[in-house]
Amino acid sequence: MTKHYGKSIFPAVAIGKIKVIENLPHQAIETHAENSEEQWQLLLEAKAETDRQLEELFEKTSKELGEELANIIDVQRLMLSDGDLNDSLEEMIKIDSLSAAEATKRAGKEFSEFFASLDDPYMKARSADVLDVTNRLLAQLLGQGGQTTLYDSTVIVADDLMPSQTLTLDRKKIAAFALRKGSASSHTAILAKSMSIPCLVQTDIPTSLGTESDGKDAIVDGEDAVVYIEPDEAVLSEMQKKIKRLEKERAGLEKMRGLETITKSGKKISLNANIGGVGDLPAVLSNDAEGIGLFRSEFLYLDRNNYPSEDELFEAYRKVTEAMDGKQVIIRTLDIGADKKADYLNLDDEENPALGLRGIRVCIENEAVFNTQLRAIYRASAYGNVAIMFPMITSVWEVKHCKEQAAKIKEQLKNEGVKTGEPELGIMIETPAAVMISKDLAKEVAFFSVGTNDLTQYTLAIDRQNSKIDRFYDPHHPAVLEMLRLIAKSAIENGIWAGICGELGADPKLTKSFIEMGYTELSVSPGYILGLRELIREMA
Ligand code: PEP
Ligand code: MG
Repeated sequence: MTKHYGKSIFPAVAIGKIKVIENLPHQAIETHAENSEEQWQLLLEAKAETDRQLEELFEKTSKELGEELANIIDVQRLMLSDGDLNDSLEEMIKIDSLSAAEATKRAGKEFSEFFASLDDPYMKARSADVLDVTNRLLAQLLGQGGQTTLYDSTVIVADDLMPSQTLTLDRKKIAAFALRKGSASSHTAILAKSMSIPCLVQTDIPTSLGTESDGKDAIVDGEDAVVYIEPDEAVLSEMQKKIKRLEKERAGLEKMRGLETITKSGKKISLNANIGGVGDLPAVLSNDAEGIGLFRSEFLYLDRNNYPSEDELFEAYRKVTEAMDGKQVIIRTLDIGADKKADYLNLDDEENPALGLRGIRVCIENEAVFNTQLRAIYRASAYGNVAIMFPMITSVWEVKHCKEQAAKIKEQLKNEGVKTGEPELGIMIETPAAVMISKDLAKEVAFFSVGTNDLTQYTLAIDRQNSKIDRFYDPHHPAVLEMLRLIAKSAIENGIWAGICGELGADPKLTKSFIEMGYTELSVSPGYILGLRELIREMA
């Protein structure tokens, strides 16, 4: 038995058989080939087949997971037909007499290294896409182009998974992820959270563990952030007990479905879900969320080459609003900048990105970008109960500006004869400045939602992205808790409601304090909803 440690993304436990997914197919490749024309034909056929598979994957993904995720596949199809890549392949095959497979391998490496060397974070991220699509092509040329076959209960071991890999795998068979790299915000982590399965990132599983380990037994313990490979009898039996306990807890939670979230003394709490797009809806509905407390609009802007159109935004907002069937959907306007960037936005490199042009500042500086979103949200508001939330507020004038802009757009749509609803307007409280002036801000809006991730970062002067200083990132710090108290007090005194949508909102150790402070809404990852409901219903 070997034991490995990592960071846990979701606190579940699973037993399965290992499937190692490597980014490059390991197989001896003939470097050169005599008949260049034959190799070129082989490449064209493999390209056509790869494109056909990607097209199929695009259809499947857009049907099952929504268009945003399907766009990732679309970008890869574009790369496959990219002129520079194809010129390079043709030259290597026809002039340098390389085999089609060797040329594909080299071109994939060169192009992905080129993208990785660029400063722009969006272009850097495209490096994984180039490698993903050229590996697909290579696998096709080597006769390994089919789907990865999984065991009935599979523990996926990989460095990290490429976006299209996570989309191709048969989700029903994935029991857990154990990754050597990855972060809480990586694609795989988001997928694991929405599937409520264990996922460890940044594990110390050695790279020497390759496909020859496929089929070995493994256990991923997301409660204690440990992976066991070939566990011994004692660990196996301990983990089986743990799984039984968790299953019992989960089954116990089923009875929470459909119940009100209310304390014994009658305090009603809205337990809402945080989402990034339409693809999260199945998890929202299956966990019985009472609404959407945070729709992170920026996910509609990432992983693409240009701005989403008003219609694209509208479609995403409308689908979510209709699916929630009258329950409130709080749509946050674009919170881009800092760690979340897209090349086409042309945001400058900054010395201190977390203190730079981000959140509402981007929308205030780019009226057209702001207006497109507001139009899309107001149009979607005709289909249900929509609210609008502005991020990263520090001053009253910013809120007044946002309200004026929203009113202008509403009027504009009215003049065009377009139907809208009456969305409530609220703000995120996630800067110390907003906390200190919360009594003035409360006079301007219908609700507050506290972003504890950023509030902790700005209060403790600690970069939330820097895992090396994790021990200093303390969302339970008395300064943060005192701020939470002050925000709720300002809200109550001014007759508006306050909620929490940062990660701290899901912390069961603080639920009682939050309710005592006066919070009436908690917005969390869908997998936490039923557990919190049970906890709240047991409270006095
Ligand atoms: C937060 O800062 O707590 C928050 C919810 O916003 P985000 O994590 O998207 O910055
Ligand atoms: Mg934030």
